[in-house]
Amino acid sequence: MQSQWKDADAQAAVQQYAARGINEDLALRTYTTRLLGRDPRLVLHGGGNTSVKTTVKDTFGADVPVLCVKGSGWDMAVIEPQGLPAVRMDVLTKLGTLNRLSDEDMVNVQRGALLDSTSPNPSIETLLHAFLPHKFIDHTHANAVLALSDQPNGEELCRKVYGDRVVLVPYVMPGFDLAKKAAAMFATNPKAEGMVLLKHGIFSFGATAREAYERMIRLVTEAEEAIAKIGRKKFAPAELPAKIASAADVAPILRGLVAELVDDNEGLWKRLVFDLRSGPDVMNFVNGADIARYSQQGVPTPDHTIRTKNWPMVVPAPDAGNLDGFRTGAKAALDAYVAGYHAYFARHNGKRGDAKKELDPFPRVILVPGLGAFGLGKSKKDARIAADLMDCTAEVVADAEALGTFNPVTEADLFDVEYWSLEQAKLGKEAEKPFARQVVVVTGGGSGIGAATAKAFAAQGAEVAVLDLNADAAQKVAKEIGSTVLGLGCDVTKPADVRKAFDAVCAAFGGVDIVVSNAGAAFQGRIGDVSDEQLRKSFELNFFSHQTVAQNAIRVMRAQGLGGNLLFNTSKQAVNPGPDFGPYGLPKAALLFLTRQYALDHGAEGIRANAVNADRINTGIFADGMLEARAKARGLTTQQYLREGNLLKREVKAADVAQAFVDLALARKTTGSVTTVDGGNIAAALR
Ligand code: ZN
Repeated sequence: MQSQWKDADAQAAVQQYAARGINEDLALRTYTTRLLGRDPRLVLHGGGNTSVKTTVKDTFGADVPVLCVKGSGWDMAVIEPQGLPAVRMDVLTKLGTLNRLSDEDMVNVQRGALLDSTSPNPSIETLLHAFLPHKFIDHTHANAVLALSDQPNGEELCRKVYGDRVVLVPYVMPGFDLAKKAAAMFATNPKAEGMVLLKHGIFSFGATAREAYERMIRLVTEAEEAIAKIGRKKFAPAELPAKIASAADVAPILRGLVAELVDDNEGLWKRLVFDLRSGPDVMNFVNGADIARYSQQGVPTPDHTIRTKNWPMVVPAPDAGNLDGFRTGAKAALDAYVAGYHAYFARHNGKRGDAKKELDPFPRVILVPGLGAFGLGKSKKDARIAADLMDCTAEVVADAEALGTFNPVTEADLFDVEYWSLEQAKLGKEAEKPFARQVVVVTGGGSGIGAATAKAFAAQGAEVAVLDLNADAAQKVAKEIGSTVLGLGCDVTKPADVRKAFDAVCAAFGGVDIVVSNAGAAFQGRIGDVSDEQLRKSFELNFFSHQTVAQNAIRVMRAQGLGGNLLFNTSKQAVNPGPDFGPYGLPKAALLFLTRQYALDHGAEGIRANAVNADRINTGIFADGMLEARAKARGLTTQQYLREGNLLKREVKAADVAQAFVDLALARKTTGSVTTVDGGNIAAALR
């Protein structure tokens, strides 16, 4: 591991922040915090923090000694000075005179001692930073140090590598008690460069930002070198089926199993979103013959447990030729996992401190031999975090097993972190958006109504896959919505393309819950003269493609067993033909009937089918210049034409149609219905 410190960058940070009135200490603290945060071998998803002791001016112009310490919610890789809130040192120091302090009181006093009342909460490890004398203190959960200290004889191994240069502190849960203990142990070796909290992480100290940072790099490198001498463990492989099933086939089965039925009558499920990893370290881990032992020891550092739970679920290797057998084996694994979780809760609840509220018993990591590891979460973002932590676990455990035996903190200690009072206090307080945890596929999503619909569902919390004939357009819309959105090229008239797209969505998110079958185009021609070819082409796009998309949706929804939602974009032409629009209206009329057929045939599976019937929307579905020409023929501008054509005299926009799709997806007791979005057109009104 190399130091990334660069004098020029450090100086640039000092100058840049000086212009905003930020002192050199905090500028350099920000700079090296980012250096640490950018290396996943050191810091992953909040697994670390830093501080500097400095002086700032208060409102009255007086100099106030403060600890600037990482605030919760900030990512170290991109931290700004406001992510290192200033806390009054005199208050923090005085807390050291107490013999006990509850977590709630500690958080409260720390908040009260902030110079800026709008700051985030200072780190839970604030007092540890405050009670030590050094100006700069860095803390990480470095993989190599975890591999070294997550051992039955971790203290001995660390001593061998570091000698007396670091203080070794036995595991204590973060908070006031750990801060007191660390300070007391440091007092016995005041020349130490750092401190290893066994089975948790490492601290380094320095008089300058550079010294603390480079000591961290050096200490971690020494642990890496000790491991490299032996080499990462290659686990003896288990025997696997000749052909492993694909992620696209496996994920929907698992996603269905780990969903929790909230309300049968409402068809409400609490689903999870998936993220698959299959890098070499993960494959080494999941394919090992001894996986049942080394995967069930616990997490490399306790703060993973909030994201991954203490243990991943291991399912049988999925044989491509026997998915039913896989489902049966996975169900048995889940039943055992859930029973094990309830038993774990019962073993520890109330043993140290107050009785707790049990969390859901479902896994957050699923290990699939032959395939990889799925991270699970309430969103794609959370699933990625769980998967990142599993990537890290696969490395740490293989290194730990090379050195000796992976042996992290005890189950009771993990329970204390998983059921930490401050985490429990947050339970049930975060309101979720209506489509959180649901995966939506939108065809023709690269522009117009499709793009507006993808955005509307994303705004309501859905995970979104945008499909479009134009892959660039799909990716552009996906990027506009957010980093977890999938954009894919897909010709919906080609069944193999549709299958490939659904496979990609299942592999990316774990399954599909809502499909908006929107892609279409307005073919024209007088019906007595139109060529067969033209009519058949329109039927391919405006009817058969919807059938292909819907059949793929049904296949995935059935594998999940969680119901689902089909939404079709029909048209006013489906009920009220326009002159020369036969080639468009005929397949759309069939599509309207298709909607009702799906509602009828798949209602018993909890799958709803509804349609939106929109008219005169300027979204590019019509041939270039057609709307303009029609408007001109009537002596109107395009906008006037669009407004004059309906009863309300309002222009109907793509976002209005998108909202109708959202409304239908929310209407849990509605199926076989058509919602009209046309500003009012009695001739096209449904009866
Ligand atoms: Zn820590």
